Amino acid sequence: MPSFSQRSRDHLDTCDLRLQKLFNKVIEHRDCQILCGHRTKEEQDDAVATYRSHAPWPTSNHNKSPSMAVDVMPYPVDWTDKVALKNFSEFVKGCAAGMGISVRWGGDFHNFFDGPHWEIVDGD
Ligand SMILES: [Zn+2]
Repeated sequence: MPSFSQRSRDHLDTCDLRLQKLFNKVIEHRDCQILCGHRTKEEQDDAVATYRSHAPWPTSNHNKSPSMAVDVMPYPVDWTDKVALKNFSEFVKGCAAGMGISVRWGGDFHNFFDGPHWEIVDGD
């Protein structure tokens, strides 16, 4: 059974408990890596400067504490493989639905494709 590295676990620990529960379930079936949970102002500024985020501090869901967003990449890591990201996203969505957790995938954003990004949908 796959499991998270210490580094992945440290990132996931900064996230909302629902995201923690969801990806602790996902990792039992699909090997993946947690790239990022909470982002500090410095980290958010850097993410915006390098086009990994479009949201200026503190408007990103990654800037909340605990983080309401998490970035996850399935193995093998290939940023150009949108099919693999899409397959992984379908698995994650299935898990989330089964657990009653409402999440939104960054691959479904209309303004830009953010394949590793997941966020909690609150209230709506
Ligand atoms: Zn993200």
